Amino acid sequence: MTERTMHLVADASSRDTRKIRVRASRWFATIRLDRDSYVDAQSTRGHEPDLPADYVAAVDRACDAAMDCIRYDGYRGSFYLGRGPRWIDLCARFRDVEATIEALRAAELECDYTGLHALADRLALPVDEWLSPGERELIRGVDFDPPPGVFLRFLRGKATERGLRLNGRATAGSLWVRPTLSAAQKQIREMFPEQYPGWVDRWTGYKESEDAPFRPWVGGSDEDLSRGAIPVQFKQLETEGGGECPCGMRLEDAGDGDDVHRVHHANWALGVRVPKGLNWWGDLVVVTTQSPISWRKLAHQVARMPQKEENYDFPSWSHMGEPEVSSDSYRAYLLKVDERIVGYLAVHDTSEHRRWDLADGSAFGVEDGTLRPRIILIWVADAYRRRGIGATLVETLATDFGCKVADVSWSTPVSPAGRRLARRLSPDGIWVS
Ligand SMILES: [Zn+2]
Repeated sequence: MTERTMHLVADASSRDTRKIRVRASRWFATIRLDRDSYVDAQSTRGHEPDLPADYVAAVDRACDAAMDCIRYDGYRGSFYLGRGPRWIDLCARFRDVEATIEALRAAELECDYTGLHALADRLALPVDEWLSPGERELIRGVDFDPPPGVFLRFLRGKATERGLRLNGRATAGSLWVRPTLSAAQKQIREMFPEQYPGWVDRWTGYKESEDAPFRPWVGGSDEDLSRGAIPVQFKQLETEGGGECPCGMRLEDAGDGDDVHRVHHANWALGVRVPKGLNWWGDLVVVTTQSPISWRKLAHQVARMPQKEENYDFPSWSHMGEPEVSSDSYRAYLLKVDERIVGYLAVHDTSEHRRWDLADGSAFGVEDGTLRPRIILIWVADAYRRRGIGATLVETLATDFGCKVADVSWSTPVSPAGRRLARRLSPDGIWVS
């Protein structure tokens, strides 16, 4: 269909002229009534440029009906149609273009809206009939025209708009349907009648007649297992939600945030999975500030677990740039169990320490200038706690450094869990810094 423009008033130079422009796209034509110069002329004469409400209602009805027809034919895209005092957009199947132009012309020039209403009536699809309760087979060519798969998709959309489940199945030349109303949708519509004016429940309690057609069973679907089922009951309860998960994430985060939490929580509870492609020999790896970036990234990823859990501002691993020597031999121990990293120990070496007898509230004792490994943070995946993994990490650290477990220094404040571990490893007291 070729694009064309026509003037509604014979004299194109008249100030009252209005133009109709028809443009075709692949599925349908867009018909735009251009009232621009007419509105300008009316305004200078002091007339209100707003469209009469009857006009708007008629245009909307015709437009909705046309959009339904175009979608029924199989169009799945969007419609970009505008409407205001200066222009009115309508869409039409190609066969309806002339009728639409004529109805629009009568409405615009003669304030006769019956043409638009007649058009809407003629285009109206028997959606309510298609969505009546009960098992039925709709036949292509008799009950509907498009290919059954296309029609099924269209009708599913219409069912969803009405809160219905379609239970539809397309065959070669027909569509089986059994629209049902869920208890939840029924409840919503009964609770908010102002949002669903004129809504009537035709589906609940519908009794299939004895001679209802029998849909051939093709298997694979569990729909028939719900036939005759009693709807579930919903109840409102005051249950406190929100707050913080033990992993440190907020519980009320839903949607995408929920997925973020799921992944984080699994890592926190079960340990961080070792990335594919990272060759890991043995059980424990020591990552330094000079290690390849993939290992330092892994240390950073594990360090996020205690950071989130304890709400620290910074992670205990941050060496993410080029490899560099650290003056204090900053390093992270990663322990792998069941193919996941379940133990993490961040440590560096310092020579300013004091003695502490580990008694609650007691002051720190003598100063000490020996170079000692200093524990910055120990973390164990939740499912692996209370299995001696923290002790194993500290013992490995001491062996590596060449000192005794009791010679290791602990950064203050020592957490309650850290204190329990320290008491077990060096009951006579520890070095702190
Ligand atoms: Zn969590």
